[in-house]
Amino acid sequence: MLGRRGHTVTVFEQDGREAGEDLDRDFLDWNRPRVPQANQPHSFLAPVRTVLRTETPDVYADLLARGAREYHDFDWFGEHPPHRAGDDDLVTLRTRRIVLEAALSAAVRREPTVDVRRGHRVRALAFGKGRPVRVTGVRVGTDTHRADLVVDASGRRSPVPGLLTAAGCRPPVVESHRAGIAYLCRWYRLRADGPRDPGRVKTGSAAPFALAGVFPSDNDTFAISMVLSTADPTRGALRDPAVFEAVARCFPATAAWLDLAPAPQTAVLAMAGLDNRWTSLADADGPVVTGLVNAGDSLVHTNPTLGHGVALGLRAAQHLAAHADQVAADPTGYHTWTARALRPWFDAQVTADRGNEQRLAEGSPSSDRRAAALAACAFDDPVVMRARAQVRHLLKPADDAYGTDEVDRAVTAWLDARPDFSPTHDGPTRDQWDALVPG
Ligand SMILES: Cc1cc2nc3c(=O)[nH]c(=O)nc-3n(C[C@H](O)[C@H](O)[C@H](O)COP(=O)(O)OP(=O)(O)OC[C@H]3O[C@@H](n4cnc5c(N)ncnc54)[C@H](O)[C@@H]3O)c2cc1C
Repeated sequence: MLGRRGHTVTVFEQDGREAGEDLDRDFLDWNRPRVPQANQPHSFLAPVRTVLRTETPDVYADLLARGAREYHDFDWFGEHPPHRAGDDDLVTLRTRRIVLEAALSAAVRREPTVDVRRGHRVRALAFGKGRPVRVTGVRVGTDTHRADLVVDASGRRSPVPGLLTAAGCRPPVVESHRAGIAYLCRWYRLRADGPRDPGRVKTGSAAPFALAGVFPSDNDTFAISMVLSTADPTRGALRDPAVFEAVARCFPATAAWLDLAPAPQTAVLAMAGLDNRWTSLADADGPVVTGLVNAGDSLVHTNPTLGHGVALGLRAAQHLAAHADQVAADPTGYHTWTARALRPWFDAQVTADRGNEQRLAEGSPSSDRRAAALAACAFDDPVVMRARAQVRHLLKPADDAYGTDEVDRAVTAWLDARPDFSPTHDGPTRDQWDALVPG
């Protein structure tokens, strides 16, 4: 995006390898300790599609050509309800993350003003004089590379806060909350000669202590994922594929896909140590440095259950590209924009996680009948599904989307038709689970 606006860009990437044309090899046989999430399942929310189609339509077309699939939230109903402004945006991109990387890498190769230096790790920053201190470039090996603006896009394990502090700058303001949940997933591929359609089944199921989900992806691949408390004593046993599949068969969403007799592609892949973290390079006195800003996971990363990461990253990238000259001169406006445009989603995730974590750890069902009805009703009523999709895709805050008279009427009518409704789960009970998982 910067290159296409005429800027000269140098990208330093510590990994010497590049996502290429062999998606499966890149996905399965690439050890990426600095990008530990690369082979976890992803689905990409509306802003990913919107930003790519606006800024780089060729990348978007390439993504689809490489196998990414569009899913509209109204596809659940078969026939879409009468169209309203904004409905066209409610689309999820279903694909492995490597497909997005491959499409972006190919596009960057075509940019004459963008130079990608692979195998070059940034180990330090270069500083000028003044107050606040100005970052004037990066140090790679014995070389210093000067720049008008340095963008830290080095992910969730960014070294930049440490580098700033070590250099004596005012420290970045980091807000970090440990999400006490673990992710386990296994990848499969539908067999060319086997059944391909699981029928009309939701992609998620829940037990009081675990969530199970399906991520339909590119080129006939899909992942089954399991999310549970890091304190769950059975967590380790789920690394055994037989145990993993046995429990996955107890959730309707994942059972339906396993019934298609897919071919396993991987072991059970686990990831924990997840945080919600906001790293602000400004404090109460303003920017801690000039000449440097952060974007992507190095600015904000959230517990991935809601899949916000790449959407927030691309929104920041788009804003930065459009305002690069101003940001280089003074980053204050960028910090103000991130606080206004991105921070509310971080705060909402932190609030939601507090409740979810406790529920998963205690294994207790939600007691909020109306909230449970709202969630269930979306799959029967397009008005509620639209509101759910607007929140899910980061287009409207929950209070705005759900707080309308028409949503209220829809939920009330849905509950009136189901006087016996009480919050429930479609997954296994704890006893059923424990019977399948060796203690
Ligand atoms: C389990 C899990 C599931 C997720 N699911 C979703 C999802 O469904 N949808 C979604 O949108 N997001 C999801 N995310 C989040 C998403 O993966 C991230 O938001 C996204 O990958 C961040 O991209 P990034 O470019 O900021 O960082 P990264 O992709 O981590 O890239 C950082 C790059 O910087 C390089 N680097 C690091 N340090 C240096 C250095 N010193 N010098 C040079 N290079 C360096 C690394 O090698 C890496 O290539 C998920 C995350 C997890 C953990």
